[in-house]
Amino acid sequence: MIPPGETIGILGGGQLGRMIAMAAAQLGYRCHVYAPEADSIAADVCAAFTCAPWDDAEAMARFAADCAVVTYEFENVPVGPLAALGDTPLLAHARALETAQDRLNEKRFVTQLGGTPAPFAPVDSAEDLANAIATIGAPGILKTRRDGYDGKGQWRIMTAEDAAALDLPATPLIYEGFVTFFAEFSVILCRGADGDIRFFDSAHNVHEGGILALSTVPAPADLLAQVPAARELAAKVAEALDYVGVLTLEFFATKDGPVFNEMAPRVHNSGHWTTEGAVTSQFENHVRAICGLPLGGTGLAAKGVEMRNLIGDDAHDWATILADPANHLHLYGKAAARPGRKMGHVTRLILD
Ligand code: AMP
Repeated sequence: MIPPGETIGILGGGQLGRMIAMAAAQLGYRCHVYAPEADSIAADVCAAFTCAPWDDAEAMARFAADCAVVTYEFENVPVGPLAALGDTPLLAHARALETAQDRLNEKRFVTQLGGTPAPFAPVDSAEDLANAIATIGAPGILKTRRDGYDGKGQWRIMTAEDAAALDLPATPLIYEGFVTFFAEFSVILCRGADGDIRFFDSAHNVHEGGILALSTVPAPADLLAQVPAARELAAKVAEALDYVGVLTLEFFATKDGPVFNEMAPRVHNSGHWTTEGAVTSQFENHVRAICGLPLGGTGLAAKGVEMRNLIGDDAHDWATILADPANHLHLYGKAAARPGRKMGHVTRLILD
């Protein structure tokens, strides 16, 4: 067990790290952020900041020496340089990172555990793509295997002719069949160091332009009917990875049951509602898990909750948002409100 007062290391400097650090502070921990970018909104609320490239082994070792445990808020942290953490534990384990960093590995892994992703095929050439379309069919989505997020690194392919006209990027890709779904939802669980698993309520997630716009809890009944099967898969993933901390799996709800989309080995945007809407937030439970503390309750703290993301200029409406006393406003402290950038979120509890 890592008692309050110790230092938690966070790899990555964004809003998820910021909210983990705020939850850690509430429990009496100090946090140390490691990130390559100088303008870290997580470091703004932490006791210490190492600004260095991921592969700076000396900086990584010095950072590790200051930390009792290290976690991450960004799943694209390169795994190789993490050897420099030495004896300082990394939670969740690096295997979770390796699995989730590559869409192909992730889908193969989940398939082995009995999950159903969209039909998929690796693509490294125009010929592979033509073959994938011949087997899987069109429409479909071509995605980079690594480093994609919020719909970036994705190309919608309507026909084989579309594909032939595409100038393929020189990076490993995956082609996925287009899933006809009636809703999207996520399963967020927290697994403690002792193997105890708690699930948060599953949010109904609405995306706009590939970016999460709205999460609503409780989800409608037709979607809730798919949650048990999705939870069973998420628990298998957590157990197979000997996972410690918060883990997220995203699903499409289809007429044939839940189709796995992707996993994130970390706290997740679709769980931001838990800060006000659950007995214990995803951030606090992540801290509890990686420090070996008992997990907090994950039940709803209200009848329902709605979380809306503030993207780009939406954040300029903060005064109007605050004028409604039912709103809980979270701004991440980012300097520039670029289009498509997650600047904050607003949570509303439904009390009666
Ligand atoms: P991703 O980055 O893979 O989560 O994709 C972002 C969004 O694009 C998802 O939340 C879906 O709305 C949509 N999407 C991604 N993959 C598929 C698919 N195979 N079929 C249908 N829609 C998809």
